[in-house]
Amino acid sequence: MSILKKLFLAIIYAVIFIAYKIRTFLFTAIRNSMPADESPMKSGDTFYDANLKARELWEKNKDSLLKKAVKRRCPFCNSDEYDIAAYTQDGYELACCKVCRMVYIPRYLPAAVWDEYSVENPFLDEANMETIGMSAGGEVFERDKERFGFYLKNIRKFKSGGKLLDVGCFTGNSLVVARDLGYEAYGLESRPLPVEFAREKRGFDVRQGKAEDLGSVFPGEKFDVITLWETLEHLADPGGIIRSLSDALNPGGILAVTTPNWDNTEIHLLKEHCFHITGSGYLMLGHINLFSPRHLIEFLEKYGCRTVDWKTHFSSNYRNMYNYWTMHYERIDSYANYGKTPGTNWRNEQEKKIHLQTENLIAKLYGPLSYAENLMKLGPIMLVISKKG
Ligand SMILES: [Zn+2]
Repeated sequence: MSILKKLFLAIIYAVIFIAYKIRTFLFTAIRNSMPADESPMKSGDTFYDANLKARELWEKNKDSLLKKAVKRRCPFCNSDEYDIAAYTQDGYELACCKVCRMVYIPRYLPAAVWDEYSVENPFLDEANMETIGMSAGGEVFERDKERFGFYLKNIRKFKSGGKLLDVGCFTGNSLVVARDLGYEAYGLESRPLPVEFAREKRGFDVRQGKAEDLGSVFPGEKFDVITLWETLEHLADPGGIIRSLSDALNPGGILAVTTPNWDNTEIHLLKEHCFHITGSGYLMLGHINLFSPRHLIEFLEKYGCRTVDWKTHFSSNYRNMYNYWTMHYERIDSYANYGKTPGTNWRNEQEKKIHLQTENLIAKLYGPLSYAENLMKLGPIMLVISKKG
C-alpha cells in the first residue's frame, strides 16, 4: 500500500478517533457530576429470520462440521506456509501467506459438505425462497440495478454490446441491466430455483452449473464480456475458475470481477470484527480468499487478462469503526452480533444519549468520507476490469 494511502487511512482514523475523544471527555464530565446507574442497560431482543436460524444451527453443529474441514494452499503462490492473521468469529483460521502475503482461509469446508448440510436444513431452502422473492423486486432490485449499472457502465467504456455472460447470476437482476444497456445477456447459476426464475419469469438463457462447469454447460461458445460479481472470494480454486472464464472469452474480450478489498479502511481496523471476515461461512462457503488490489490484478494477469481499469465501490461502515474504538464491540455489525439487538455498556441515560449523538454525527460524515475513501481506492468492494490478450 502506498504512503499516500496509508496517510489517508490515518486521516480517516483520526476523524473517528477525535469523535471518540470528544465522547470520552463528555463522559468524564457526566461521571464526575452524577452516580452511575445500578444495572447496565441490556437489551436481549432477537430477530428470528431464516438466516439467523442458519447461524444458530451452525453454532450448534460447527464443532462436528469443522472436523470435515480440508486444507488448502495459498491460492496465489501455492505455498503452504502462513502466519495466522486472526481467528474469525465463526471459528476459522485466517492465514497470511509467508511468501506473498495473500490472506486466505487455509482450512475450509468444501462445497460437498455444504450441499449435504443444506439438505438437512429446511431453513436454508426457506432462506433461498425468501431471497429469490426479495431479489426480483422492490428495494433489492433497485439496489442491484444501481450496483450493476455502475459496473456495466464502467465496462461499456471498453466493450459496448456483444455477448455477455454473468457467472453466478442468481435470479438475473444483472442480466436485466445488461440487456437494457444493449448486451446480449446469458447467465450461469448453480442453484436450480433462481435458474428457473430467470428463465421462466424473465426469459433469459440461464443454464444451471457451477463456474467450473462453464465449458460443458456452454460448449464451444465464446463471449465478449464475462462478469463475476462477488464470487471469487468464495471459490476454493479461484485460479482454475479464472482460467476457464478466460478460455471462454473472445480475443480482446473483457473479464470483470468484483470482490472484497483487503486494503479496505474498515477491514484494516476491525479485522475479525468486520462482517466481510466470516471465515469459511456458516450458511455456505464463505469468504475464503481476501484479495488486495495487487494480488487480484497480478492474479488475473497470470491467466492472460491484463487490467485496463480498476476502482473501489460502496462505503466502509464508519459507525462500526467508531464503536470499535469506543469498545462498544456489541454494537458492531459483525458475525458475533448477527441478529441481536445491540446491548450497551453505557452507565446511564446521558452516556447513552451522547454515544448515539456521536454515532449520528459520524453518519453525517458518510458522504464525504466514502467519496474520499473511493478516490483513494480503499472502499470495501473492488471492481477490476481486465482484457484478454
Ligand atoms: Zn502466497
